[in-house]
Amino acid sequence: MGYNDHEGLGHSDNSRIQQYIDKLQKEILYCDNCQPWEGGGPIWVLGNPQDIKDFLNECGIPRKYHSEIASNVYCNSCHSPLELGIQVALKSMEQKQFERKMEKWKITFQPKFHEFTKYLQQYPYLGARHHIGRRIIDAIENFPKHSIKSQVWYRARQLTDGIKFTSRDMLPPEPTKVHIPEGRYNHFGQSHWYLANFEWACANEVKYKTESFAWIQKIKIVQDPKILNLCMKHPDHPNPYLSILATGIIYSDTIRKEVIRDNNWKPEYFVPRFIADAAKMKGYDGIVFNKYLLDSEYLVLFNVDKLKYRFVGIPYIYGCERSH
Ligand SMILES: [Zn+2]
Repeated sequence: MGYNDHEGLGHSDNSRIQQYIDKLQKEILYCDNCQPWEGGGPIWVLGNPQDIKDFLNECGIPRKYHSEIASNVYCNSCHSPLELGIQVALKSMEQKQFERKMEKWKITFQPKFHEFTKYLQQYPYLGARHHIGRRIIDAIENFPKHSIKSQVWYRARQLTDGIKFTSRDMLPPEPTKVHIPEGRYNHFGQSHWYLANFEWACANEVKYKTESFAWIQKIKIVQDPKILNLCMKHPDHPNPYLSILATGIIYSDTIRKEVIRDNNWKPEYFVPRFIADAAKMKGYDGIVFNKYLLDSEYLVLFNVDKLKYRFVGIPYIYGCERSH
């Protein structure tokens, strides 16, 4: 949509210029200072470059205002001041679509999810009676999927004094013999296989506080199970084709709320665990998720007996020097 050069609305030039400045400011993602430089010029790796002047023309902003508008905006990434001759990367249609969906999510769903979380704390087994629970069950079939065929994943276990683990020991725990605590995607006693796509990510999940080593097993997935994809993508390339419900679940903190490991009451797990139950009921074999943007990915597999995979080598001890 362009900015029309409305006449006679009673606005002073200054207030109109300020409106254009505010609009343009919101659109600027990167400038040439944000890019790596080589041979005296920027190499555009972040966003698609466009002249500020072209953008103002496209918006139908009168030429007499251009230089004043351009010199009053700055880069939203590196905060460099800008001017008319400079190239900038502006938000794409996909980003704008995505932002609109997040706005709608905040208004329509977010308060209801808050209420749903409280409801689940009171009636953990009755989530399907709640209208948000029903919406999730109905919609989950159309959530994004992820193929893990031929991918390599890692499983970690804490070191236990003097015990050398075999590949069999790296399978999911046996619920009749081992205490399996509740997790983000499993109820108490449910044995699921939690993997990660990097050794360090996997090891960090199992090591306790100051410990710096873990057992690792490399695993290759052979077939293509049905995997629900709850990973956030980079904000420069969000997925604009998701429903408002899927957008909010994936990109808000609904499924990512931090828990305190030592705390025995973990209400942050109720909603993600309900989503996992809905996914299982609709035939998914697992969920891939990330915790932070650009972080590693994690995979929870519900039923390893059905899965076709092979161990790559035997378990080995991994030193977690990296702090993530
Ligand atoms: Zn910049």
